[in-house]
Amino acid sequence: MALIKCMECGKEISDKASACPNCGAPVEKEKRKVIIEREKGFLGSGNTPVAYIDDMLVGNLKTGSKLETDVPLGEHNLILEYQVGNAQRSGILAYGDLGGVNSIPQKKIIEKFSIEESTKVVHIVVPKLLAREIVITKE
Ligand SMILES: [Zn+2]
Repeated sequence: MALIKCMECGKEISDKASACPNCGAPVEKEKRKVIIEREKGFLGSGNTPVAYIDDMLVGNLKTGSKLETDVPLGEHNLILEYQVGNAQRSGILAYGDLGGVNSIPQKKIIEKFSIEESTKVVHIVVPKLLAREIVITKE
């Protein structure tokens, strides 16, 4: 736990508090940049997931696109919501990528990540085929 100064009244308060106990002003949590990138490629391009971090909408993650947002320190969930159509599923099958997507129309991927104080930027790379592994690196 660290002490920070309240932006409103200047009193020292815990950085874990959600509001200043003295004046009630909300505590601004330190944030870091999170970049979510989708690998470019024709294959899998019909699947455009909607990306959320916790319950915050980040945007549509089209193939080859990049989304940026600021996220407070701590534990988070990246959530990708998408539809798997028959054509896309058979396309995945034809290319031999049996990542579990083809058997059941999977609609949600949840990936946990954390942001520490020492983190500057979090890079999340989402593969063009959603059945493959999401790669998260921190700088
Ligand atoms: Zn205050």
